[in-house]
Amino acid sequence: MMQYVIIAALIALIYFLYFKPKPQKKEKTTESTKTTKADANDMIECATCGVYSELNDSILSNGKYYCSKECVEEGR
Ligand SMILES: [Zn+2]
Repeated sequence: MMQYVIIAALIALIYFLYFKPKPQKKEKTTESTKTTKADANDMIECATCGVYSELNDSILSNGKYYCSKECVEEGR
């Protein structure tokens, strides 16, 4: 029975050695996360009225996001 454990361990070791170089390709995954990280389309809640608007369309003021200039004025 112990032999199976050793064989399994050896297979696991071989697998580990074979799959180890893979993380070097992680640059690709970071690239893909970069694209997903493009949070320009993230929905940001307006600090005044609570309406969600795209990050592109929202206004950043005092570290808070607002949907419109009116809300920026109100938020002050
Ligand atoms: Zn608003």
